[in-house]
Amino acid sequence: EGHTHIGPEAVVAKRRRYGYPCTAHFYSEPPQIVSGKLHNLYGHDGKAYVDFFSGVSVVACGHCNEAITARTIEQLQTLQHTSTIYLTQPMVDLAERLANGVLPGNLKRTFFVNSGSEANEGALLAARLHTKRRSFLALEYGLHGRTFLTMNVTGIPMWRTDDFLDQEVTTFIPRPYDPVMDQEAASRRSLDALANVLAEKGDTIAAMIVEPIQGNGGMIVPPDWYFRELKAMLEEHGILLIADEIQTGCGRTGRMFAIEHYGIVPDILTMAKALGNGVPIGAFCTTDEIAASLIRPSASTFGGNPVSSATALAVLDYIEQEGLVERSLRVGGRLIEGLRELQGRYGLIADVRGKGFMAGAEIRGATDEESAAWTDIILERMKDEGFIIGKNGVGRNVLAFQPAMIIPEEEIEAMLRALDQVLAGLSQS
Ligand code: PMP
Repeated sequence: EGHTHIGPEAVVAKRRRYGYPCTAHFYSEPPQIVSGKLHNLYGHDGKAYVDFFSGVSVVACGHCNEAITARTIEQLQTLQHTSTIYLTQPMVDLAERLANGVLPGNLKRTFFVNSGSEANEGALLAARLHTKRRSFLALEYGLHGRTFLTMNVTGIPMWRTDDFLDQEVTTFIPRPYDPVMDQEAASRRSLDALANVLAEKGDTIAAMIVEPIQGNGGMIVPPDWYFRELKAMLEEHGILLIADEIQTGCGRTGRMFAIEHYGIVPDILTMAKALGNGVPIGAFCTTDEIAASLIRPSASTFGGNPVSSATALAVLDYIEQEGLVERSLRVGGRLIEGLRELQGRYGLIADVRGKGFMAGAEIRGATDEESAAWTDIILERMKDEGFIIGKNGVGRNVLAFQPAMIIPEEEIEAMLRALDQVLAGLSQS
C-alpha cells in the first residue's frame, strides 16, 4: 500500500492548523476516506460506505471505474500535458464528440477549462462579448461558483463569500419555488417578476444564468412550462440563456442535460463535475454565432489537457455503452418513489423532489433550527449505518441523494430500509 493513514483526528487537526478556517464538514466524527470502488467508499479503518452523494454529482460513473481510469492512465503514460497552442488530439476529439450527439440543438462549439466556476465565468464573458451588454439575471438561491463574477450571480448567501460584491451586476429573480406557496403560483410569480425587470431594463442585460434544477438550493424542479416561457421572454429582449448543468449534466436527471426535460435549447451550456468522473474538467458550449464573439480566446494552460480530455471521452463512452441516461430516469425514479413512500409515513419528511438520480427529501421540524438539526442527526445515523448521503437547501435541511448512476438497485432498497429505521428511531425519541 505504501501510504500510512494518519486517521481522521490527525487529518482534522492538520486542516485546522494549515487549511483556511472556513473549511466545513457534515459530521461530528467525519470518516477519513482512503479508497473507493464504484458505489463504495472505504474509511481508514476499513469501514465500507455506500456513497449516495458522489462528491456532489462528480463521480457519476463510480469511483475508480476501470473502464475509465484505464484510459486516464494510458494517456498519463503517453502524453500528460503540452500547451493547447500546439496540436493535440484528445481535446478536439472530445469537442467533436460533444457536438455530435451529446449536446442539444445547435450547440456545436466547446471551450475547455478546469472547473465549474471557470466554465460559468467563460459563459458569462461570452454572453457579454456577444451582446455587448454588461448585466446579468439569475435566480434567487442559485449557485454558480466562487470566482468574482460567478459569486456575483450566485443567489445563496452562504456561498457569496465576499460581502462587497458589485450588486449592480446582477438582478435576482424569485425562484420557481417557495416553501409556503403552491409551486405553480411561485413559478408564475417568478415569471411576473422577470417580466417587470425586462420591461424596466431588458435591453441592458446580456444573459440569464440558471440551474435547470437547483442543486445546492435544495433540489428545486420547476414545472414543465417554466423554462419554455422564460426562454421566449428572454429572446424578445435579445438576452441569452445560460444553462448551468454543472450538477445536473451528463445524464444524472434522466436526460443527458436537465434543460432537455423542458424542450428548449439554451444559448450557452456549462458542465464540469461528472464529465471527468473525478478528474478536473469544465466546459462551456455554445453556437457558431456566439462562439465567434470570443475573438481573443487566450489559451488555458490546463483546459483541454490530454489527460482530462481522454478521461471525458471515456466517461461519455461509458455512459452511452451502459445506457446510464435511461437508467438514471428509471432507477432514479424508483429512488424518488421510495422516498415518497417514506414521506407518507414520517411527518419529518415535508417534501420529496427531484428527477432521476438527483433527489432531495426536505426535513421539517417545528423551527428552522430544528429542521437543520434533525437533518444532521439523520446524516450521522445514516453514516453509522454505512450510507453517505448529502445535504443541501437554503436552510441546510434537505437530504441529498446523488449516487453514481451505476448504483445497484439492491443498494437503493437497502438505503431506503436504513432510512426507514433511522426515521422510526427518531419518531420514538
Ligand atoms: N454551478 C453549480 C450548479 C455547482 O453545483 C457548482 C459546484 N457545487 C459550481 C457551479 C461550481 O463548480 P466548481 O466548484 O467546480 O467551481
